[in-house]
Amino acid sequence: MSEHMNWRGKVLALVILVIAAGLLVFGIRLYDREEKLDPAVTQVIAENERPTASRPESLADKYADLGLIDVHNHDAYKYLLSFPTWNRYHVGKIVLFGNISEPSAMITDALAWGAYNQYPDRIYPFFSGFNMFEEEGLQTVRNQLEKGFLGVGETVAASSNSPVLANVIWKASDSMDGNLPKVYELCAEYDAPILLHIDPPSGMQIEKLEEALKQYPDTLFIFAHANVYQDADSIGKLLESYSNLYIDFFAGFTSYNPASPYKTESYIDLIEQYPDRFFLSTDGAYDMTYDEAIPAMYETIELLKPETRKKVASGNFQRIIDAQRPTKTQLKLFEKLGGSVGTGADPATLSRHEMNKLLFKLDAASKNSVDK
Ligand SMILES: [Zn+2]
Repeated sequence: MSEHMNWRGKVLALVILVIAAGLLVFGIRLYDREEKLDPAVTQVIAENERPTASRPESLADKYADLGLIDVHNHDAYKYLLSFPTWNRYHVGKIVLFGNISEPSAMITDALAWGAYNQYPDRIYPFFSGFNMFEEEGLQTVRNQLEKGFLGVGETVAASSNSPVLANVIWKASDSMDGNLPKVYELCAEYDAPILLHIDPPSGMQIEKLEEALKQYPDTLFIFAHANVYQDADSIGKLLESYSNLYIDFFAGFTSYNPASPYKTESYIDLIEQYPDRFFLSTDGAYDMTYDEAIPAMYETIELLKPETRKKVASGNFQRIIDAQRPTKTQLKLFEKLGGSVGTGADPATLSRHEMNKLLFKLDAASKNSVDK
């Protein structure tokens, strides 16, 4: 028992450390940003960039009913700080994880699960902390999926250019490296999508991704921020060949990052051609602010046909979540916590996500009754 407490104490200390570090970095970034530009200059730039929009939130207000899902977000270590922004922009749900493909991701995965427990109507947790080169890592993947995590990722299947991924020790060298193929099998077994980071999105790396798509037709692959340095034609060829491929579209990059060689407008015809295969994301506002990354999502929605908007904003991703059934571990816990069909919950009709919500409630109720 005391050993257990020690272990919990250590994890808690680690979590506090991670949050403190996150707050510090966040604070420094804020300070940095405000130092650089005179407010008057910032104002002029903002007005020039957006001559017509009165407030950045106006499009978000217009499309509030779409229940926008951000399918790629790294804020597990600071999600409480991000919530006001997500609320202001009517971001309905957030696919949440933190660090990726390195041991520290195991801590941020736990934070994502904690966020899910607290806000199950807003968070869809994914996980990324597993060693894809060891048998043990495969067991971690199975355990996390059994526990009720809704997807895997962001997983680094290849990265040569990203400075933040230069030193992560569990990254693959291509989409078929290490135990990734076995991870894909597990994903298929659990109907869990895998969000893959692949850079550069060209040459051998795309050939290896195609090998994975071909060999694992029952696995749902999501190409993370596929529009980053990849043109619409290249994405189109992949979509045409592989029906198990979905696209995470990081609109902020092609709309607001001056480094992007392509513009968001150049992908609109492709999205209309495959309206069931696209999702939207902020990538946690990577290399920009949420005030760019989120409006960019709504500006993309505005360019779509009315019948495509809901699909891309939330429907396509929600369909995948709704298709997941409860796991054996969930069902066991359901029984252990005294859940039964008699209480009005039939596991046979619940999705994995709905079962998680129910388990959180039953667990809280059982803790309350122990306290009394
Ligand atoms: Zn990312």
